[in-house]
Amino acid sequence: MEIHLDTRLEAFPGIGAARARGLAKLGLETAEDLLRCYPRDYEDRRLRTTIRSAPEGQSVCVPAMVADTPRTSYVRKGLELTKVRAVDGSGSMDVTFFNQTYVKHALIPGESYVFYGAVTGLGQRRQMTNPVFEPEGRARFTGRIMPIYPLTAGISNNRLAGLALQCVEQCVEEVPEVLPPALRQAHALAAAPFACQNIHFPETEEALDLARRRLVFEELFTLSCGMAFLRDRRSVGRAPVFSPEGLEGFRALLPFSLTGAQERAIREAAADCASGRPMDRLVQGDVGSGKTMVAAACCYLAWKSGWQSALMAPTEILAEQHFRTLSGLLEPAGLHVALLTGSMRAAEKRKVRAALAAGTVHLLVGTHAILSDGVELARLGLVVTDEQHRFGVAQRAALAAKGGTSDGLSPHVLVMSATPIPRTLALIIYGDLDVSVIDELPPGRTPVETFLVGEDKRARMYGFVRKQVGLGRQVYIVCPAVEEAVPLPEGTEPSPGFADLKAVTTYAKKLEEQVFPDLRVGFVHGRMRAKEKESVMAAFSAGALDVLVSTTVIEVGVDVPNAALMIVENADRFGLSQLHQLRGRVGRGSHQSYCVLITSSRDPDTRARLKVLVQTSDGFRIAEEDLKLRGPGDFFGKRQHGLPQLKIADLAGDTRLLKEAQEAAQDLLRADPALCRPEHQALKTQIQRLFTENAGIFN
Ligand code: ADP
Ligand code: MG
Repeated sequence: MEIHLDTRLEAFPGIGAARARGLAKLGLETAEDLLRCYPRDYEDRRLRTTIRSAPEGQSVCVPAMVADTPRTSYVRKGLELTKVRAVDGSGSMDVTFFNQTYVKHALIPGESYVFYGAVTGLGQRRQMTNPVFEPEGRARFTGRIMPIYPLTAGISNNRLAGLALQCVEQCVEEVPEVLPPALRQAHALAAAPFACQNIHFPETEEALDLARRRLVFEELFTLSCGMAFLRDRRSVGRAPVFSPEGLEGFRALLPFSLTGAQERAIREAAADCASGRPMDRLVQGDVGSGKTMVAAACCYLAWKSGWQSALMAPTEILAEQHFRTLSGLLEPAGLHVALLTGSMRAAEKRKVRAALAAGTVHLLVGTHAILSDGVELARLGLVVTDEQHRFGVAQRAALAAKGGTSDGLSPHVLVMSATPIPRTLALIIYGDLDVSVIDELPPGRTPVETFLVGEDKRARMYGFVRKQVGLGRQVYIVCPAVEEAVPLPEGTEPSPGFADLKAVTTYAKKLEEQVFPDLRVGFVHGRMRAKEKESVMAAFSAGALDVLVSTTVIEVGVDVPNAALMIVENADRFGLSQLHQLRGRVGRGSHQSYCVLITSSRDPDTRARLKVLVQTSDGFRIAEEDLKLRGPGDFFGKRQHGLPQLKIADLAGDTRLLKEAQEAAQDLLRADPALCRPEHQALKTQIQRLFTENAGIFN
């Protein structure tokens, strides 16, 4: 049978309808799919020894002749042993198979085979159990480096490897070369067929390294090109010019002096806004680093130059808080701030909309409802989005599209991310943005002391709550729960599975009635009406509540300096970065603050993961750790960051190649921006494929 890249797998010998369905579940339908399904690991089966010289217990290939007829014995129900003796020039060994009676007919006395397995026992007692074996001279899976594939039920690794071997033998030369020759040469990248063959059946370790390097590069390179297309689509055009002059006036409004890092970020943003081209800047900084001031400075400059700004937050609570902060700060200068959220009454909304259209509001603060139709800003010059990780790439694009004034100008875009994003990931997700990092906290912060405790410490922990309240402090208790009102990007489903955990409502009740009847306990969750939420939050802010029980609605941005203790229930259910965010809710005032992570998990990996938080308060390190441990998919929730599933590259491990691939992508696109040259056609097709398979990311 002839095999080509487009040969369907059910046409392969030994693949019936049922197996084909199993393979299709893995996303494998054609020979090409199979060739692009890369092994997750390898087993080195190259070492050949004699029976006598086989090292004890290490898997090796031993060529030997079958010396007698295999005998099967029934040890007990469900356990059958088949034994045979094999010999070579150096000695003999007993080969035993458990429940593999077919070997009785597969092994023929007098014939030679290669047995792959671990030899145990000494001298006359050498033996091998359940080896892989093949006739000498017709070896496929012995004497080489064997691929280990990601498996699903019903498809054995041997079967997948067998299929892959047929494809490699018959059509690997058909694998298209997407990387232009000049690029391959410049970066010392193996050719596509070589890479494909050696990623499946590497001749040597060196060949495997070369194959992997090429394929990782290709994957990151195509992705980078895709991101660059996205960037090019957005950064064309002109933008309003904000004079960078008025900053002195802004500083004069502040009750504190800006940190060096804030000054730097503001300078960078201000330069963008003065350039005449649309700013696309990400401000990254740890919780509490003071990102809001960078946004405020930009809004101030916009206003000074006669432009309006809009600031979007992911939750109403946050929007309201920003509104309070920014109006408090900027109104005295004459800059009018308005709030617009989904839960406001229609009449109120109408009033705000009218003021916006008339241009009497200079800064609009709101949730993503700002994006909904009906809001018109007469002179929108700047859009700020806070807590970026809640918004996907698609949201950003929608925002940019929202802008566009009558005179054909695009607004500046400033994105604030409170989740320190590992640099590697930022390069991909925000490859289309310039980045300012705020790597310095305002002075006077004491690090939060963090503890990881089990259920056995619950009573003591409640005691600690009481003690803190006795000192006049306030306490957060966070539980994971179903109630999540964080606006999810379109097409995203809420994460399932928390329903079985401590229902916040019952838990809050229990705390209020049984544990702390003497304290003032309030609670807030995502399903509450905004007004209720707001009044509870306001009460907590004002010190009228001692304990606030909540779901993660308080995760982002909420600022109550008197809160000094953060307790997280079922901490193992959260990502490290998310826990770090939560911890950032305390330690905002001058009091020593604490964070207690409760877990009933005894899994050493889980505990080791949580321990990272105990050990460090560096958000970037925590993010790197999160990325290493959970992968980029988990980092923001895969659907939210909109990145395609990477087949082979490891964002945590392949940093150097990522950088190289990104630079190469930039160079290539600079030389041939629309990829028109004949040698770039295969690449263009590949990128378009990435576009269609991940349509969400590019629209
Ligand atoms: P985040 O980066 O988490 O959004 P915020 O902008 O909310 O941080 O700032 C956190 C707190 O620090 C706020 O109470 C803010 O008023 C305060 N703050 C910001 N910048 C400074 C500064 N330079 N000096 C002192 N306090 C500051
Ligand atoms: Mg903030």
